[in-house]
Amino acid sequence: MKDIKKAEVRVTVAAGNSYDAIVVGAGIAGLTSAAYVAKVGYTTLLCEKSEKPGGLVGSFSRQGFTFDAGIRAFENSGIVFPMLAQLGIAIDFVKNPVVIGIEDSQMTLTGVESLDDYAAMLSVKFPQNQTEIAAIIDEIRKVTAYMEVLYGIENPLFMDLTIDKEYLFKTLLPWLFKYQVNIRKAQKLDEPIETYLLRFTQNQALIDVIIQHFFEKMPTFFALSYFGLYSDYSYPIGGTGRLVTALSDFIAAHQGELALDTEISQIDIKGQRVTTRDGRSFGYRQLIWCGDMKALYDAVDCSASGEPGHRVREQQQKIRQNRGGGLDLYPLSGD
Ligand SMILES: Cc1cc2nc3c(=O)[nH]c(=O)nc-3n(C[C@H](O)[C@H](O)[C@H](O)COP(=O)(O)OP(=O)(O)OC[C@H]3O[C@@H](n4cnc5c(N)ncnc54)[C@H](O)[C@@H]3O)c2cc1C
Repeated sequence: MKDIKKAEVRVTVAAGNSYDAIVVGAGIAGLTSAAYVAKVGYTTLLCEKSEKPGGLVGSFSRQGFTFDAGIRAFENSGIVFPMLAQLGIAIDFVKNPVVIGIEDSQMTLTGVESLDDYAAMLSVKFPQNQTEIAAIIDEIRKVTAYMEVLYGIENPLFMDLTIDKEYLFKTLLPWLFKYQVNIRKAQKLDEPIETYLLRFTQNQALIDVIIQHFFEKMPTFFALSYFGLYSDYSYPIGGTGRLVTALSDFIAAHQGELALDTEISQIDIKGQRVTTRDGRSFGYRQLIWCGDMKALYDAVDCSASGEPGHRVREQQQKIRQNRGGGLDLYPLSGD
């Protein structure tokens, strides 16, 4: 948003169906983006193709009970709580420890200290693999320590460093050094977890039990870090949808508009306009895409010659060749 001057937009009103910022996709990413752009005074339109905001996050009620439709709790990762504090959104959370089980045994993971219990649980099921289990647990401890550095502090993007000097000097600067060292070590562990564990054991049943909670071919550093992250989950009282409602209310209170049943199917990057599947059209100065990447590159009209058409066409080719459901945040403008 750097090319929009604040003073200029504060007096701007959405005219002729045009907005300073159009955010596509009202999942948590889109709701957060729209909240921040609306907060600083940009005229903002948040477009969501479904009839409800929230994407993978949301709750619904039946017969007086609340059910979570998507994720079951929030992984803070040093982001969710500082972000809510910065936006001034108050939601009550309770800790939500994760329980993992093998057949009839189960245990609650409260942090890395639970790894001894996890090793004991694995050893009961696989008594012939004690040494291998010990080596795998050491590996989990190592990766958890790297990732604790990555997630371990309140994310600086959500802190006001000019005011919080103590955070700047006592937390952020020492952390930056540790981050540089640890991110390199973590990045080297990008092999899929399935094949990585074969270095420690040939017992496929043991591997299957350990990786049962992960996605297929998850990079090792990400998969093993879950044993640390499991203790970082919190649950909003009232259901996960509390966050969706709170962010939607925040956007409305800052004159942002949420358009439901509004699927963006065409993007004219030169003309800086988007068109919905049912033929409505909106202009933008900045477009923030928080839907899936394939939909983004299918919607983009990159027939124009020269830049940025050329760059977009290249990216479109790459995305079409890839398989998977990555979600990302991309600023797109005609310049
Ligand atoms: C199986 C699974 C389990 C998870 N468990 C947890 C967990 O326990 N705790 C946790 O913190 N995180 C969890 N996550 C991660 C978390 O759910 C996601 O990181 C987060 O919800 C993604 O939000 P998003 O806004 O990026 O995407 P989404 O929630 O997918 O939102 C994208 C939105 O864009 C809309 N959209 C797409 N295309 C268009 C278009 N063309 N026009 C208009 N709208 C469009 C979609 O309808 C959708 O509402 C989990 C993820 C998965 C997949």
